[in-house]
Amino acid sequence: MSKLKSSESVRVVVRCRPMNGKEKAASYDKVVDVDVKLGQVSVKNPKGTAHEMPKTFTFDAVYDWNAKQFELYDETFRPLVDSVLQGFNGTIFAYGQTGTGKTYTMEGIRGDPEKRGVIPNSFDHIFTHISRSQNQQYLVRASYLEIYQEEIRDLLSKDQTKRLELKERPDTGVYVKDLSSFVTKSVKEIEHVMNVGNQNRSVGATNMNEHSSRSHAIFVITIECSEVGLDGENHIRVGKLNLVDLAGSERQAKTGAQGERLKEATKINLSLSALGNVISAMESKLLVGGKNIVDHTNEQQKILEQKRQEIAEQKRREREIQQQMESQDEETLELKETYSSLQQEVDIKTKKLKKLFSKLQAVKAEIHDLQEEHIKERQELEQTQNELTRELKLKHLIIENFIPLEEKSKIMNRAFFDEEEDHWKLHPITRLENQQMMKRPVSAVGYKRPLSQHARMSMMIRPEARYRAENIVLLELDMPSRTTRDYEGPAIAPKVQAALDAALQDEDEIQVDASSFESTANKKSKARPKSGRKSGSSSSSSGTPASQLYPQSRGLVPK
Ligand code: ADP
Ligand code: MG
Repeated sequence: MSKLKSSESVRVVVRCRPMNGKEKAASYDKVVDVDVKLGQVSVKNPKGTAHEMPKTFTFDAVYDWNAKQFELYDETFRPLVDSVLQGFNGTIFAYGQTGTGKTYTMEGIRGDPEKRGVIPNSFDHIFTHISRSQNQQYLVRASYLEIYQEEIRDLLSKDQTKRLELKERPDTGVYVKDLSSFVTKSVKEIEHVMNVGNQNRSVGATNMNEHSSRSHAIFVITIECSEVGLDGENHIRVGKLNLVDLAGSERQAKTGAQGERLKEATKINLSLSALGNVISAMESKLLVGGKNIVDHTNEQQKILEQKRQEIAEQKRREREIQQQMESQDEETLELKETYSSLQQEVDIKTKKLKKLFSKLQAVKAEIHDLQEEHIKERQELEQTQNELTRELKLKHLIIENFIPLEEKSKIMNRAFFDEEEDHWKLHPITRLENQQMMKRPVSAVGYKRPLSQHARMSMMIRPEARYRAENIVLLELDMPSRTTRDYEGPAIAPKVQAALDAALQDEDEIQVDASSFESTANKKSKARPKSGRKSGSSSSSSGTPASQLYPQSRGLVPK
């Protein structure tokens, strides 16, 4: 181990949460032992045999159920955030099954300063650092996104239905297209941004717990710092901090996964790769000068912080030394070749044997575990494959029976597999095909478009441009059948007609005799009832001539 651990770019830290009320009530066995000093975790198999050894794992640091949030921050996260402030990129993520304390570690308990997690602590850290800086200008921007089933959602965007895409550019590498970011000038502002995102995160989810166990949330803080260097030029450095609350690491592909679940299961691993791409994305080129926050350095606090950091560093070194001693112990055991007495030799060799034996057991157990895991994984893969095959068969059935053969072969000819994007794609329609498709109907030969008879005629009569390619169709009017008749005047009896004609004849003079008009009028009024209204009683007047029944002419004196 020539390389110092602290210089490594990836640090793996384990935190073991306390048992919860439910687990205590059910008096569950504790199967995890944590050696904080050595940085080791031992896990024993609760279903194992009596002589099955617990399995021991060593990490950069381990924390047990007594660990406080600030201890983790000072020892593990502070150095990383410091390096981001110096222009490096850093990522902090919590990995573990649902309920193991990822969100507790990342966010903590709101409103309890003691239990604030990495995210709020880093906000404080960053803005305190900026407020203390001198001759530097900072610009802090925040973005918040969620990855669920390979889809990226911008949690700070107004339109929450929009899905973002991962893009790659040769100069800047992988990035999330159109991801919004907000400039924040204080802890309060950045907290506000985070709250808005968290609200959006839960809006889309019917069950937040379930949703958060299946989606990754990434809060990205970009810190740009500009400083006048020794050369008198402005120098800009950009650091990016990714704070990730991962989906639960439990096996998503449970037996019986179908439809949506199957889709989810096959995508959850993919989305981890999407996550990797997002994290590796390069930083924005936008470089804007920030606000120089006037500092109010609290020296006392600064010293305290420094001391804490020193203690953390001390702890880390102790742990490393301990770990080194452990491994050296084994080596020295082998090197001790001279023995003062036979008994001593036996003792030492027995000790060595015992140690080697337990090592052997551990290795054997490890092999066994790996085999078991392998079998399980294989079974799951087989199951997924079976289901995919079944789906494929259905698609095949549909294609073979319901898609016309020529259409199928056309598509087959155009389809090709894009290795880079891992997708089937269609070639654009080639020119030959294009020509065929664009071939004009015979009727339109010579013209841009088919022409109607009306247009042709109109073009001949008045060759206006308007008719060149106008598609006007001449149609006969489709008239409705007639529902009316022509007007016919009332029928007039020939005698009446004759009388009318006579009356309308021009005469030289008209003589009026009032007395005789009187009697005629009387006659007329008497005759009226007989005029046919009561045809039954008309017998008495049946002998009366028609000339008496109908007045010859009204107001005119007979000659
Ligand atoms: P995850 O995000 O991994 O699903 P949570 O962070 O929601 O898990 O934790 C599950 C529960 O355990 C929560 O009620 C949380 O408050 C509690 N918890 C987790 N870690 C700790 C811890 N170190 N100390 C006390 N309580 C914890
Ligand atoms: Mg969680």
